[in-house]
Amino acid sequence: AVLRARAAIAEHERTVPDFPKPGILFRDLTPVLADTEGFSSIVTALTHGCSGVDLVAGIDARGFLVGGAVAQELEVGILAVRKGGKLPPPVYGVDYDLEYGTGRLEIPASGIDITGRRVLIVDDVLATGGTAVAASKLMGLAGASVVGVAVIMELADLGGRARIAAELGPDVSLHA
Ligand code: AMP
Repeated sequence: AVLRARAAIAEHERTVPDFPKPGILFRDLTPVLADTEGFSSIVTALTHGCSGVDLVAGIDARGFLVGGAVAQELEVGILAVRKGGKLPPPVYGVDYDLEYGTGRLEIPASGIDITGRRVLIVDDVLATGGTAVAASKLMGLAGASVVGVAVIMELADLGGRARIAAELGPDVSLHA
């Protein structure tokens, strides 16, 4: 599945220079996810070898798509980690720095209790790791612990892997 996923990414990925800011090479995986073979091989590849997970947290917005499918494969639930300002109060929120700008992630602080849950964070692209670390802090605020981070694509030059190991600990696995 990993090889099929890589082939689909190579065939369908759209790369856009200088978006959303000069100097950023934007990696748009939308066409890969719209490809039957691409979507299914990515979900299979990300799920392979995942154990000890009892909740998937998908990051707004492409992490929702893959996260939902990964959760179904793992037979666990899915939690949408929203960008700031989308959810009614009360929320847990974490502000963080992005490769381009700053951001905020939120989850509901009412109506759902994820205390003690072992969470797999799912997103499309890992760049600096700031988003994954922020999502992990958010899970911590809600009393859950992150056991892994799964992304479709790792931009290895930006150091996300090292940052996750440094801030989340060596026991948190990275599937990319
Ligand atoms: P980071 O927090 O730096 O690891 O950035 C990861 C988040 O920002 C993910 O949610 C990505 O969707 C998005 N992102 C950052 N850099 C890029 C890029 N070059 N191309 C596409 N998405 C990106």
